[in-house]
Amino acid sequence: MSKEDYIVFGRPEISEEEIQAITAVLKSGWIGTGPKSKEFEKEFASYVGAPHSISTTSCTSALQIALEAMGIQEGDEVITTAMTFVATVNAIIQAGAKPILVDCDRGSFNIDLNQVESAISKKTKAIIPVHFAGSPVDMDALMTLKKKYGIKILQDAAHAIETQWNGKKLATYPDAICYSFYSTKNITTIEGGMICSQDPELIEKARLLGNHGISKDAWKRFSSHGFSHYDLEFPGHKFNFTDVQAALGLCQLKKIETLYQQRSQIWEHYQKAFSSLPLGLPSEISSLHRHARHLYIVLVDRTQTESSRDLWIQKLHEKGIGTGVHYRAISLMTGYQKKFGWKPTDYPNAKWVGDRCISLPLTPYLKKSEIDRVVEAVQSLAK
Ligand SMILES: *Cc1c(COP(=O)(O)O)cnc(C)c1O
Repeated sequence: MSKEDYIVFGRPEISEEEIQAITAVLKSGWIGTGPKSKEFEKEFASYVGAPHSISTTSCTSALQIALEAMGIQEGDEVITTAMTFVATVNAIIQAGAKPILVDCDRGSFNIDLNQVESAISKKTKAIIPVHFAGSPVDMDALMTLKKKYGIKILQDAAHAIETQWNGKKLATYPDAICYSFYSTKNITTIEGGMICSQDPELIEKARLLGNHGISKDAWKRFSSHGFSHYDLEFPGHKFNFTDVQAALGLCQLKKIETLYQQRSQIWEHYQKAFSSLPLGLPSEISSLHRHARHLYIVLVDRTQTESSRDLWIQKLHEKGIGTGVHYRAISLMTGYQKKFGWKPTDYPNAKWVGDRCISLPLTPYLKKSEIDRVVEAVQSLAK
């Protein structure tokens, strides 16, 4: 297996056109946060169906300042799922609040909505649902909880730019939604994130929080409208995006539906090819909704295949196929165990999923021959 043949998990592909767009900004005399970032914010918000948006350094920072913009602070509790990336939980902690975990569903891997209500206390201020792998969480159920308990809903849509619930885009729901443009996500700006909302005040607050708490953007201070002094309204963070990245983001956004269709085709191909194997396959969702097809996850069960998940990862690696684990259950992380006293057995479904899951390559840039190699490797391992 030569190095060039290795299938890198989540491999992006940056086109000549994109390199030119990036170069143009590099040569323009303004490479930091500025007009390109603003243009990307507008175009992206229009695609996801929200009137207001602010770009950030990452989805992690987006989640943190969205919580802070909602007024969440020390002493508050924020509910999220035990099956997510640590970023979701860290954002809650960095905002000063206490994360409260709820177990996931074994079929969708999404937060088990039947268990959310019993986790709500007087201190609960928000829920962060994660649309896992691109599969929508039931937004109607979340809106019912929001109304009943007066809590905020902050969606973690790091996997779910293209996702829809009941024909509706996720960003049309309150209170705010965060996206990721990390290198392996559905579209990329290398690193980057965005908060979108129907609420202009929330986005304005988040804009200040991400820009030191300073009331004017640097590029506006020195604009053609003349000079003006800045003021600090409160101590904030430094989470601003750059125009170089925005140039890439604007190109990626133009391709978003094409990339989605390409991932969907690979997905369908895997589903057919693996249908009779002793593996857990992604569950289908109603055609009323739209799954963003971010991760194609199979579950390897020791009792069914007599070979553990980790051994599968090793064998696939030896065959030149890079895979991922999305994710090990949050309660398995020793740093959280020390801080919150969580035990691995506390969230049995998240542990069950996290012990068995393997994400297979789903990058839209996979060649036919690479897809065939993945299919053959999985078929031979499952036998
Ligand atoms: C990737 C990811 C994040 C963090 O995104 P960054 O842009 O890398 O900060 C948050 N939540 C989930 C579910 C993710 O997969």
